[in-house]
This record gives sequence, structure tokens and C-alpha cells, in this order.
Amino acid sequence: MPELSRRRERAEETLAYALHGSLYLNITYHCTLRCAFCPKFQGSWEVQHYDLLLTREPDAEQVLAAAGNPAAYKEIVFCGLGEPTLRLDTLLTVAQALKAQGARRIRVNTDGLANLVYGRDVTPELTVVVDAVSISLNAQDEMTYERHCRPKRLGAYQAALEFARQAKAHGIDVTLTAISGLEGVDIAACRRIADTLGVQFRQRELDAVG
Ligand code: SF4
Repeated sequence: MPELSRRRERAEETLAYALHGSLYLNITYHCTLRCAFCPKFQGSWEVQHYDLLLTREPDAEQVLAAAGNPAAYKEIVFCGLGEPTLRLDTLLTVAQALKAQGARRIRVNTDGLANLVYGRDVTPELTVVVDAVSISLNAQDEMTYERHCRPKRLGAYQAALEFARQAKAHGIDVTLTAISGLEGVDIAACRRIADTLGVQFRQRELDAVG
């Protein structure tokens, strides 16, 4: 069945999903990267039993309706099978509303390429409503990053590192992440980069949301 037809047949889409006491928001299916390890490039949009396939980009009202009571969760995380900062206005609107409704902590899982995409530093806007960012660095050098993440734009690796610096400078809690087990990825070297930047580091497992 063609992909588009299959999408149109789905009645419900997962805009919000709960895991480990946190609420995850799935606001886009677009990406700046084309990661070779991404499930959507293996024909699957499923992550930890949640089908994250979207047929459309939800507006802020729809995301807020799906989120429910944000105070019920330890953390709200913008994270789906797409790059949330590609919908910066929606992200900021939703995050601001969730904060007003009692969200304790708001995090964005990101590729760190928003400044490259928008051609300006967006971290001053993020810091108003976002407490933390987890940036998928995924490699200890540009060549390894290009191999696994296949960015659509030039200069992505350096841009992600600069985004981490700017986010930290604007008071956002920054964590760099890398996935263990990818060929050529040196987790210890990724951790050293985080140490050099003065930010946190977390090793991730493939297909595990976090
Ligand atoms: S950034 Fe995430 S959703 Fe986008 S291609 Fe890479 S793994 Fe997939």
C-alpha cells in the first residue's frame, strides 16, 4: 500500500506519550538529519511500542489537548521521530502554555541545528520556556557524524557544538548524547567533548527514547 494511503487510514496519531513518569510530545515528522540508524528509514515509526507516525503537523492547540495536565509529570520532553525545533513557534507556544499550567521541567531533544536552520541564535528564545536540551552529538568527529547522521546541511557537526555552547551560555541545562554500538563511535571521546564544553553527557541505547 502506498505510504500516503496508509497514513490517511489512521484515525489517531500519537502527539503525546508517557514514559518513565515523563510526557513526550511528538510535534513533527520533519528532520534536518537523515540518520542511518533511524527507525523511520527502516520503514518503522514505532519507538518503544508507540507509533509515532504523523500525517500532519499538529498545531499548538492539538498538542496541548493531547498533553493533558503537565503537572502530573516530572518532565515534559519534546521528542518524536522528527526535529522539534523545526517547528520553533509551535514549540515555544506549547512550552509557554505548559509552564503556565504547572509543568515542572521542559526539555527538548534536539539535533542542535536550530541556529544553522534559522540563521540566528534561537537559544535566547528557548531559555525563556525550556529548562534543558539533550543534543544528539552522536559522534566524536565530523566524519563519523556525517556517516551516521547524514545531515542535509553543510557544517552541521560544528553547528551542533556551537548550539551547545550558546545554550549553556544562556542558562539552559545542556546534555550531549551519543548512541552506543554505532560503528566508529567512541563514547569516551564524546564524553570528553561534553567535559570540554562544561556540559553533561549521556550514553543512549539505540531505539530507546530518553
Ligand atoms: S534526528 Fe532523530 S528522527 Fe531525525 S532522522 Fe535522526 S534519529 Fe531519525
